[in-house]
Amino acid sequence: MKQIVICGAGGFIGGHLTKAFKTMGHKVRAVDIKPLTRWYQITTGVENFVLDLKNKENCYQALNGYEEVFNLAADMGGMGFIETHKAECMLSVLINTHLLMAARDLGLRRYFYSSSACVYNGEKQTDTNNPGLKESDAYPALAEDGYGWEKLFSERMCRHFKEDFGLITRVARFHNVYGPFGTYDGGREKAPAAICRKVIESELYDKKEIVIWGDGHQTRSFMYIDDCIKGIQDIMYSNIEEPINLGSSEMVSINQLVDYVEEIAKHKLERKYDLTAPKGVRGRNSENTLIKQYLEWEPSIPLKNGLKKTYDWIKEQMIENKGKDSKKVVFNEF
Ligand code: NAD
Repeated sequence: MKQIVICGAGGFIGGHLTKAFKTMGHKVRAVDIKPLTRWYQITTGVENFVLDLKNKENCYQALNGYEEVFNLAADMGGMGFIETHKAECMLSVLINTHLLMAARDLGLRRYFYSSSACVYNGEKQTDTNNPGLKESDAYPALAEDGYGWEKLFSERMCRHFKEDFGLITRVARFHNVYGPFGTYDGGREKAPAAICRKVIESELYDKKEIVIWGDGHQTRSFMYIDDCIKGIQDIMYSNIEEPINLGSSEMVSINQLVDYVEEIAKHKLERKYDLTAPKGVRGRNSENTLIKQYLEWEPSIPLKNGLKKTYDWIKEQMIENKGKDSKKVVFNEF
């Protein structure tokens, strides 16, 4: 049995990872800054700590007595958030820095850091027909301003803690992750959840049009949460010493993404394009040669299948939470 700390466990990916490790029978401590009433999932039999991990002492408290840590805690969101909260995004550097120091001083065995495709050089993402970003495309560095630079710096900090102090660190560069138990409103949501929400709103409130950010031709790939959780575990316990892509290589345009959601909803809408809205890079995709080579695996759940599960979950939530001030917290019982 491993003794695992999940930081950012009140969030989307951290919540799923906590449940996965607990289901496997490991001892898990879940940590997040949010009050428990705002965590997306709470797993029974797990030790839950509410702590601000920007604070150094709190990081020592969070890791004390445990062997491994997964750092998924960050102040982040979709393009609408990261383009307008650059300083807040960069302050997440305190979380990773203090967690690394605590992991080193307390003698933890392994450290996982969740980086992002936002570390990639913007000049390699100017075409909708992106051939896929290789790990080496992060340099020469021209990351997404704010959020991406923090991720790139923190990746390097993990590398140097390994070189200088012998702490085993593993870094995955997530490309867009989506699925149930994630953010779908409030300003931090990403494209798949935002589009599902807008289509569902039009069904529930009889609206005829959907507003799309940008011209809809921008491209991305989207990884379903179950693929992400498997990838995180495989990368953590591998010998992969450099940051590696963890993302789907099924690239679609935002217009295609809307087509898929409309198909699921069986509901067609008139499209309005907001060209002034934040839209990010023109084209982004994950190049998966390295992950296939190391792990003989890559994320593969088809977008249409994952979207159906996400859409169904968001619809259920929107119906259930209609007219209420706060959302229901889900308890995973064991
Ligand atoms: P999320 O926002 O749902 O979860 C992050 C959690 O971190 C939140 O619950 C938040 O409260 C917590 N947190 C923030 N500041 C904290 C602090 N000071 N102390 C303790 N907890 C704090 O996001 P997510 O989608 O689950 O992302 C998890 C990680 O993966 C993040 O590092 C994110 O940058 C990275 N990532 C996510 C995606 C994606 O598509 N979801 C893509 C690339 C990278």
